[in-house]
Amino acid sequence: AAKKNGRNGFSWFENGMEIELRTRNSLEADIRAAIPNDEFVPYFEQQVDLATGELVGFEMLARWVSPVRGLIPPDDFIPVAEETGMIGDLSMSIIRKALLEAKNWDQRLTISVNISPVQLKDPWLAQKIVKLLVETGFPANRLEVEITESSLFKNLNLAQSIVGSLKNQGIQIALDDFGTGYSSLAHLRALPFDRIKIDRSFVSSMDDNAESAAIVSAIAGLGASLAVPITAEGIEDESVIAKLNELGCSKGQGWHFGQPMSIEQVRKLLIEKDMLQSRKQSYKKSSV
Ligand code: C2E
Ligand code: MG
Ligand code: MG
Ligand code: MG
Repeated sequence: AAKKNGRNGFSWFENGMEIELRTRNSLEADIRAAIPNDEFVPYFEQQVDLATGELVGFEMLARWVSPVRGLIPPDDFIPVAEETGMIGDLSMSIIRKALLEAKNWDQRLTISVNISPVQLKDPWLAQKIVKLLVETGFPANRLEVEITESSLFKNLNLAQSIVGSLKNQGIQIALDDFGTGYSSLAHLRALPFDRIKIDRSFVSSMDDNAESAAIVSAIAGLGASLAVPITAEGIEDESVIAKLNELGCSKGQGWHFGQPMSIEQVRKLLIEKDMLQSRKQSYKKSSV
């Protein structure tokens, strides 16, 4: 099927590949058009203090709300955005929306954002993030930047300098999905992480898989020895919380606490908890 005669002469692609490429191209074109159309939005997943059960912040997770394609998860568009050089602008525009929203939250609540390995190759990344903080008025010490191990692998020196600049501003740095990917314990020494996030694959299966439980416990022990606090992701069942507490994991997130929520859903939740600043402020203003 490699050769195909037609008006365009030869096609070097297998039929399947040709279709794949066309789908890819149309996906890329759709992403490009969707950015100015404001179709990329932040969703938010609750992060909880495992000892008290209190809501302490949210992880921002990107979603594409496409009128044509529906609600699209990040795994379907982040890789394309990375390969086509769109990830930087796309990411900054979603983070901007998230920070403008998070500004209205209770001042104790933090926000975590994911940064792609491709973005960690941008020497201006730290400056761009700091600029967003200045423009949105969101405090640096309530922002956590999550990076994955695989991203450090590519250019450790640049990653070190970016992380250093972010930390100088008071931004927290978390090592995401720990235990998967290009796991290297050396990264824990090379970069001054404020937090380690245990990958959800271990946490969600720790109840019925002894190996997963052992890995969670080993990572928690590592965190304790290094004095780096731990977040457990992928808490799907209440039954693991006691164990995670015992292991000293300070924060947790996962479907047990809630699915990722839209801005409207977060506002509703925070109003219930009396944790929405703008509401308190506008109440104060209107009562003056
Ligand atoms: P992640 O940073 O590890 O994010 C957590 C993912 O786990 C989210 O998937 C979330 O919906 C899912 N999750 C949360 N709790 C549970 C649970 O209890 N069980 C299970 N099975 N899954 C759970 P999502 O939103 O599809 O995000 C996937 C990945 O996409 C993220 O993994 C993150 O690496 C990446 N991502 C998301 N938003 C962005 C972004 O704005 N920029 C970049 N560069 N990457 C992003
Ligand atoms: Mg993450
Ligand atoms: Mg993660
Ligand atoms: Mg993950």
